[in-house]
Amino acid sequence: MDDLLYGTRDKRGDWKPNAPLEVAPFWRRAFDARTLGHWFIGYLWPWNAFHMATALLYWFFIIPDVETLRSLSWGWGLWLLLVNSAGIFAMYGAVELFYYVKRRQETRFKFNHRFPAENPSDVFWFKSQNLDNFLRSFLIGIPIWTLTEVLMLWAWANTWGNWVDWSTHWPWLVALTLLVPAIHELHFFAIHRLIHTPTLYKWIHSVHHNSINPSPWSSLSMHPVEHVLYFAEIVWHLLIPSHPVVMLFNSHAVGYGAINGHIGFDKLEVSDDAAIDSHAYAHYLHHKYFEVNYGADGLVPLDKWFGTWHDGTKDADEQMKARFRAKKERARARKAGAAPAE
Ligand SMILES: [Zn+2]
Ligand SMILES: [Zn+2]
Repeated sequence: MDDLLYGTRDKRGDWKPNAPLEVAPFWRRAFDARTLGHWFIGYLWPWNAFHMATALLYWFFIIPDVETLRSLSWGWGLWLLLVNSAGIFAMYGAVELFYYVKRRQETRFKFNHRFPAENPSDVFWFKSQNLDNFLRSFLIGIPIWTLTEVLMLWAWANTWGNWVDWSTHWPWLVALTLLVPAIHELHFFAIHRLIHTPTLYKWIHSVHHNSINPSPWSSLSMHPVEHVLYFAEIVWHLLIPSHPVVMLFNSHAVGYGAINGHIGFDKLEVSDDAAIDSHAYAHYLHHKYFEVNYGADGLVPLDKWFGTWHDGTKDADEQMKARFRAKKERARARKAGAAPAE
């Protein structure tokens, strides 16, 4: 595919899309049914449909029966850990293999023309972003994710929480399923904004931000405290009336879905004239500029409301720079105020 029909490439070779990022249509002043329909298809297909399909697959073929879930045991916990690890390895690994190792798309639609493997750096374990990110995901991230799921399934089997049935509460459960990406946006924005405060950033979140040029393995590469906060989103299903399938869908949207912001390409070509939208640009800009786009896709446009939205345009760049300048000024004024008068 010709990526220059969709965007531009600068002197360095970095590609950016022509179309600015947009928040969900119902937040815009003017939108029509066609825009809404188009947006809704992109909302479901392919990523959320994939998370729902894997949630159902887990529910019917992986998760043990309710009797087994009623008591915690290493057996089913480790089984779920094995399946989650294999699933992430297969999904993230496929993107890594085709687009980063074999580079079948070269740098078409790639925001940063460099590949992480080309940049050894001291900030990473073994000086390798790939190895560091991979080990942090599999040794820490996936076990914490699995533990959260185990505790939630155990709670369900013991009827702790507000669990409801599809037969009696299906309209609510359908609505909740559609709202899961909004829960994600709210939860992720809140914890993400929190760990961008100076002390927590230094202590916790800088680990994730070591990957300025993220790739699939960067997705779940975090400090363990961030893993706990990130996967705590799944625990909302203890408070909201929910069903384990919807909980699993949410869990897969955060576990498997973490890859979306870190794909590094705007589109993944699947044939000569077809490509999947990665939805990676907003979070790519977050990794590039740090203090913009704390949320996800603009489904609930919190970044817009809090003045941290970057849609990829020159205007947004100027606004961001003005914000950074004002922040510096404030810090300088504070410092001057705090200094003893001579
Ligand atoms: Zn990230
Ligand atoms: Zn961040």
